[in-house]
Amino acid sequence: MQTQRNILLAGIVVATSLFSAAQAADKLVIAHRGASGYLPEHTLPAKAMAFAMGADYLEQDVVMTKDDKLIVLHDHYLDRVTDVAQKFPHRHRRDGRYYALDFTLDEIKTLRFTEEFRIENGRQQQKFANRFPMWKSEFRIHTLQDEIEMIQGMNHSTGRDVGIYVETKAPWLHKLEGKDISKAVLEVLRDYGYTKKTDKVYFQSFDAPDLERVKKELLPAMNMNIKLIQLITNSDDQKVIETMVIHPDGSLTPYSYSWMLQPGAAAKLSEYVDGIGPWYPMVVQSSSPSGRVELTTLAKEAKRQGLQIHPYTFRADPGQLPSYARDFDEMLRIFYIEADVDGLFTDFPDKSVQFLQKNRLHR
Ligand code: CA
Repeated sequence: MQTQRNILLAGIVVATSLFSAAQAADKLVIAHRGASGYLPEHTLPAKAMAFAMGADYLEQDVVMTKDDKLIVLHDHYLDRVTDVAQKFPHRHRRDGRYYALDFTLDEIKTLRFTEEFRIENGRQQQKFANRFPMWKSEFRIHTLQDEIEMIQGMNHSTGRDVGIYVETKAPWLHKLEGKDISKAVLEVLRDYGYTKKTDKVYFQSFDAPDLERVKKELLPAMNMNIKLIQLITNSDDQKVIETMVIHPDGSLTPYSYSWMLQPGAAAKLSEYVDGIGPWYPMVVQSSSPSGRVELTTLAKEAKRQGLQIHPYTFRADPGQLPSYARDFDEMLRIFYIEADVDGLFTDFPDKSVQFLQKNRLHR
């Protein structure tokens, strides 16, 4: 009898620890543009570094070239991270910007890639002064296929199963150019074996009308069913217009995200996505006093609806912390543990992995 009870207890202990291991594996580290805190964003070296740091998913922002190739690049502009203005001085549009959509892949491959900069008083000023120095070493832009092959190759050589987390940038802009970027990206994902919800892939976008089309038209037509994430931004911030709505008469107006922050939004979102990627202040009330976290309506509702929550962007650089966190580890604790988000986008995947390991929330 005693033995039986011990076996039963042992069984419970094993089951409990298995459960914890499964839970632990659930907290995700998403390497935002790779290990972009240490190497120029989205370069293959930044992706290899994030992989080696133990990230669960590596992020790809994707835009299309003039000749319909898919490249990994955050903006649909080339001028903030390359020498395009020196190599092709006359190829900007009326707004002064150089659009990836106006260049062929061969042209883009001639460009040198560097840490993000701004032009201030006619001079290039590095955005994050403490990061990898501008114009050092040699970096180039690559295709989505190149990156997937590198990640799958590293999975093969290490025995790991690191995922991809693909964002289509400005599908509405591509549509104005007669291009269907979402369909093109899905075709690549299918070619490389990412077709089911259990595959290690997330498909993310700010473009809500396009994401709904992906869910309701493209995925069924392509016999695919992968995890979708609605990215959410602050539409009151007119500096960042992520999405334009194309009206039947061809006119454009900014897409308003405000409904996503209102009560009842999570129920509507769960009709077409598996999770949300909100700006982090949309998860934790900015008025939260230190040590007592208050979730927003969006975060509370998303949990009730079973939507995954992957906020962005967690940066350890000086001046990037919210007032309620003393240091980066506390910011991670507030979100991973107190707010209990499922994963988060960070430029510093090593710090997130180390934090989770210390708290037994990551293998
Ligand atoms: Ca992104």
